[in-house]
Amino acid sequence: MSLPMIPAAKPIVGDEERAAVDAVLRSGMIAQGPQVAAFEEEFAAELVDGRRCQAVSSGTSGLHLGLLACGVGPGDEVIVPSFTFAATANSVALTGATPVFADIELDTFCLDPKSVEAAVTERTVAIMPVHLYGHPADMPGLQAVADRHGLKIFEDAAQAHGASLGGRKVGSFGDFAMFSLYPTKNMTSGEGGMVACATEEIARQVRLLRNQGMERQYANEVIGLNERMTDIHAAIGRVQLTKLAGWTRQRQENAAYLDAHLEGVTTPPVAADAVHVYHQYTIRVAGGAAERDRIVTALREEHQVGSGVYYPIPNHRLSSLEHFAPGLELPVTEQAAAEVISLPVHPSLSEGDLERVVTAVNTVVKAGA
Ligand SMILES: *Cc1c(COP(=O)(O)O)cnc(C)c1O
Repeated sequence: MSLPMIPAAKPIVGDEERAAVDAVLRSGMIAQGPQVAAFEEEFAAELVDGRRCQAVSSGTSGLHLGLLACGVGPGDEVIVPSFTFAATANSVALTGATPVFADIELDTFCLDPKSVEAAVTERTVAIMPVHLYGHPADMPGLQAVADRHGLKIFEDAAQAHGASLGGRKVGSFGDFAMFSLYPTKNMTSGEGGMVACATEEIARQVRLLRNQGMERQYANEVIGLNERMTDIHAAIGRVQLTKLAGWTRQRQENAAYLDAHLEGVTTPPVAADAVHVYHQYTIRVAGGAAERDRIVTALREEHQVGSGVYYPIPNHRLSSLEHFAPGLELPVTEQAAAEVISLPVHPSLSEGDLERVVTAVNTVVKAGA
């Protein structure tokens, strides 16, 4: 008998979100308005120690506008990880600047400050770490490199709502930080992004750029886009924000259970001083990509356990981005891309689900050993 599938991710949307959307639709004010303004303030207070937040239409828009607001453009280089979703490097490339790929640390899957230092040139203007899977990047190490070379820091915090390092929340380190609100992220607004800004000047540039360059209607100051969030999306996000802390605790408890019971795999360590919010719970398995893929298939087909491989192809080898990095070798990135599997860790898992995940992984891994 086959059991119901345990999905790798599961967005949670309830009656409160539906009621909030209905209230916006009834109000007749659907586009960016009071819900967006309230969401920005609540997000700032809850997640980034009060830094000014500007809501936008997606996480990718947030990266793009944040980079433009900080003056990044043609001739500039921004150092990014290759082991991430393509939106990180895409947003740099879309400004006309060049994404320069650096390697990661195997434990945290985040940028390695030594590799970043080696990638700095006279055209480098910034480092953009990704807090991958919900684990904070080594911000003190990266800040030291930035200080030595006079670089800015931008944070791709798409996967890391609520994560912190040394008691400081991610999103409060860089000149700007982006959080994604896509449905599979730790909280959602449907589609959406939030840009947390270090200064009012950067925040104002983001506001202008998301709204055709206007702060006052028809007084267009700069060339901008339409990357506004709607009040419909903000209403969903406001409800989700009130639930995020509880969901994060549940993710952390699920991760602790997996840490304690998985065998024969490398479970994800947490750096000293770090709070991991487990957007993904990502293990590494021995034996290379073919063995990893066998495990993923067996989990799904023999045990009805969903899992994900984020990311099987490093960005510097994607056909869209490889021209930025001819001949580049990033050995740790390659190793991670061949070894990672993200297991279900989302807050909807029951105790029985977690037991099934553990039994499935332990059985399938042992069978290949
Ligand atoms: C999801 C994600 C993005 C893009 O966010 P969208 O809201 O999907 O546009 C960027 N970077 C990383 C690391 C992500 O996981």
